[in-house]
Amino acid sequence: MQKDEALRLFRDPDLIPSEKQTLLSNIAAQAADLNMPCYAVGGFVRDLLLGKPVNDLDIVVEGDAIQLGKKLVERFGGKLTPHFPFHTAIWRLPSTFNLQPSTLDLISARKETYEKPGALPTVTPSTIEDDLRRRDFTINAMALRLDGEGLGETLDPLKGQTDLGQGMIRALHPKSFVDDPTRIFRAIRYEGRYSFQIDSSTLEQINPEALKVLHSLSGERLRHELDLIFDEDQAENMMLRAASLGVLGAIHPKMPEFNRDYADFLEMDARLDVQADRRTMGYMLWFMDLPEDEVILLANRLDFTNELMLAVWAAAQLKRGLPHLTDMKPSEWTYALEKLPLLSIYAVYLVTRENGLLRYLSVWRHVRARTTGDDLKKRGLIPGPRFGEILLRLRSAWLDGEVNNESEEKDLLAKLL
Ligand code: ATP
Repeated sequence: MQKDEALRLFRDPDLIPSEKQTLLSNIAAQAADLNMPCYAVGGFVRDLLLGKPVNDLDIVVEGDAIQLGKKLVERFGGKLTPHFPFHTAIWRLPSTFNLQPSTLDLISARKETYEKPGALPTVTPSTIEDDLRRRDFTINAMALRLDGEGLGETLDPLKGQTDLGQGMIRALHPKSFVDDPTRIFRAIRYEGRYSFQIDSSTLEQINPEALKVLHSLSGERLRHELDLIFDEDQAENMMLRAASLGVLGAIHPKMPEFNRDYADFLEMDARLDVQADRRTMGYMLWFMDLPEDEVILLANRLDFTNELMLAVWAAAQLKRGLPHLTDMKPSEWTYALEKLPLLSIYAVYLVTRENGLLRYLSVWRHVRARTTGDDLKKRGLIPGPRFGEILLRLRSAWLDGEVNNESEEKDLLAKLL
């Protein structure tokens, strides 16, 4: 791309808000003082060239990023967390930059070698060209120079711009997925997000050898990739694509496909007062129709947190047990459901449209007796298990329509005392 066209995109406040532009110029000026060529790379350049707003600022310098970070902190404030083995630093930005996220990664251009498939790479400082060659796909392997006279120059040694123009996702070398099979998820994400295509020879590299390495990846790394898929608008299509490429089966043979009929429910945001976290919702919908032992097996494989495990397990159990609840009284529904995470109940409601669940979510869970523990004390009752029993009995009476106003509640209380 011509320098002036790149600069036009770079200066477009709709693509890079002015606060980010200020930050980038300050970093570039500081890098120039240190004689360090400084580049924006990766998703930043990709999205800029696509004319889309950039999200993360990926900054790479040819030189010591930690040294640059120290200078930036001296000059602008904030805090630096250096990571010496990787020659990187995280700069916690001072509030004057007024930016979210408020941290920035500063990276030294580096070369990476993989000693073992799927292991983390060994890193050595190197040139920007090498740094671009360690990346996942050509569309992510471009750099835009930020410092001094070079400002606006694009580096594109792997022809990322051509692939970007043709909507093609192309790995940089034939062993890319064997080195790091998380790149398979990344390919699926870019394909779905931008309606791109995975190039045919790249697609062929998602082969049994690469899937075998994928099989050996830790649950934590896999879940991170799946989390990122659930964050995407096209999550459903990406999950279906992952299944069709054999990726889900490689993680675990019991891994089900994502049920297409449930896809719309990913879009549900806060309704009925329930905060619906998209990732948790994704996993609940994905595993909702599995038997308990498989839910637990897969949750362990993906290293779910206890909270996520509970939400997913509860949703599957509730859906399975729903026929037993249908003829129950509202109080019985309520006491059964109260033990479960709200989000799980919400997810099962979305899928089944079971009226009892809706009544619970919108009404029953808020119903309380008017009488309180204090009232009982005032009436001379000594606090103990009987307290709870009475209050529960009164609440059930409200829930089941046995009492409908305060005076009926008082009459019932009188009978109970
Ligand atoms: P997104 O918009 O999904 O965040 P991104 O390109 O910003 O895309 P990041 O995960 O933030 O993605 O990574 C930044 C850059 O680092 C990528 O553009 C790519 O060049 C490189 N990268 C990230 N993960 C890998 C990987 N597993 N293998 C090789 N390069 C990677």
